[in-house]
Amino acid sequence: MIEIVLIPCLSDNYAVLLHDPQSLQTLLIDAPEVSPIIDCLDEKGWRLTDILITHHHFDHVQGLPSLKSRDNACVRGPNMSKAEIGYDYGVSEGSSVQWSGRNIIVIETPGHTLDHVTYFIASEKLAFCGDTMFTLGCGRIFEGTPDMMWNSMMKIASLPSDTICYSGHEYTGSNARFAVTIDPENQSLLDLAKSVSEKRSANLPTVPTILATELKTNPYLRTDDEEIRNHLNLQNATDAEVFAEIRRRKDNFSG
Ligand SMILES: [Zn+2]
Repeated sequence: MIEIVLIPCLSDNYAVLLHDPQSLQTLLIDAPEVSPIIDCLDEKGWRLTDILITHHHFDHVQGLPSLKSRDNACVRGPNMSKAEIGYDYGVSEGSSVQWSGRNIIVIETPGHTLDHVTYFIASEKLAFCGDTMFTLGCGRIFEGTPDMMWNSMMKIASLPSDTICYSGHEYTGSNARFAVTIDPENQSLLDLAKSVSEKRSANLPTVPTILATELKTNPYLRTDDEEIRNHLNLQNATDAEVFAEIRRRKDNFSG
């Protein structure tokens, strides 16, 4: 069994550490901030062997130089931003990364940024979605197009439904308040929004999430839902058009 630690960084970022107690190998997903990650490694007595980066944004890579130099970890990130950030190895669609006897599959999920990738460990059904899919949300589209982001979300949606999905930020409070404006009759969503609000009041994380739950509650994955389409008055639109409209409304949502 691998041990997984979610590490809050900066104001709302998450890094994740995976440790295999048999091989003693430790993998970090994203490097938002040095000190909380080093504190965790020190406390656990772990040596950082590998780092995977989801995309080139500063709040995901700024800890790389210090974290790499601590234990000379091997850093991998998207091919597209390899020259900009300076990973040891670049990855792209279908690349497989070996870590502690496990196969980690690389899925390109552009939209938030063009280089964005999601890492999927099939043997443990773990997905690291970075800033592509959040609990009850999806990333803001900075570099790509809504169609691109929609395709990326559908790639994540097609993973096994019991996949445990980690994301790069704690945005669920706002995502839940927005989701209920899009899908107000969805009882699963209303129940989840209530529990999210309680967790956030207690400063508890809402990451990770289970894909099956997202499929029932995340509005960006429910573009074929009749009630959502009626609500948006987009009965005859394509799924990608419904997705784009939901994302546009979120961009203008304050709450
Ligand atoms: Zn980002």
